[in-house]
Amino acid sequence: MVHFVGAGPGDPELITVKGKRLLEEADVIIYAGSLVNPQLLSLAKPGAEIHNSAPMTLEEVLAVMERAEAEGKTTVRLHTGDPSVYGAHREQMDALDERGIGYDVTPGVSSFLAAAASLKKEYTLPDVSQTVILTRKAGRTAVPEGEDLKSLAEHRATMVIFLSVGQLEEVAEDLAPSYGWDAPAAVVYKASWEDERIVRGTLADIAGRTREAGITKTALIAVGGFLGDDYQLSRLYDKTFTHGFRRGTEGGV
Ligand code: SAH
Repeated sequence: MVHFVGAGPGDPELITVKGKRLLEEADVIIYAGSLVNPQLLSLAKPGAEIHNSAPMTLEEVLAVMERAEAEGKTTVRLHTGDPSVYGAHREQMDALDERGIGYDVTPGVSSFLAAAASLKKEYTLPDVSQTVILTRKAGRTAVPEGEDLKSLAEHRATMVIFLSVGQLEEVAEDLAPSYGWDAPAAVVYKASWEDERIVRGTLADIAGRTREAGITKTALIAVGGFLGDDYQLSRLYDKTFTHGFRRGTEGGV
């Protein structure tokens, strides 16, 4: 059996209770060494076999899983954040399906959620944006037609951009025509890690500020009005607003 587990964004306490248990019980652990906090590996039981997948190919990862399976062992494949977001996860599941190897998936706290926590912001503010776009800029890996940043920007939704901090100038240029150069922007480096850093600014100056801070990787770019202070209070807690769990008091609907 292979357990895919989301390790969370960095802080070792941000793995789920279930993920932690699976890690403690695993005979074989394959972790994404480029971003998974190595502190999590101290949860492994004595004698567990541990592999860093960073220098490994897909075939090599699968070979480790196949061998473990043949020996009746349990494998944890530890992904950073949540495996469903830029995790190269599907190809592993499909390969296990082909080989008849059973697996399950335990989700994790994605870095985009840790970034909101670090920023102390809410992505979905009434009247500001009720939509969150998770995306990346085309780089060495292309994005499908229609998903270029310029097109996505037209929605002026809350946007969280992965894997693109090295191209921040171009990102700002793509977004500015729709959001405006004065739109608030933030870069969160290593959200939830001890050496986390936040750079705040606008589309006009965020690239320069981030360069000055020396941040070139392991960071998210967040853009949109949610970073500002202008919004309507939520109707969920509005005393005049009745909903399924509470009756409004002051003549609300
Ligand atoms: N599956 C992961 C994302 C993997 S892609 C998740 O759910 O978070 C790797 C990219 O994620 C990095 O280039 C960076 O843009 C972002 N990232 C991962 N961890 C991060 C963290 N702790 N802080 C900021 N960005 C992070």
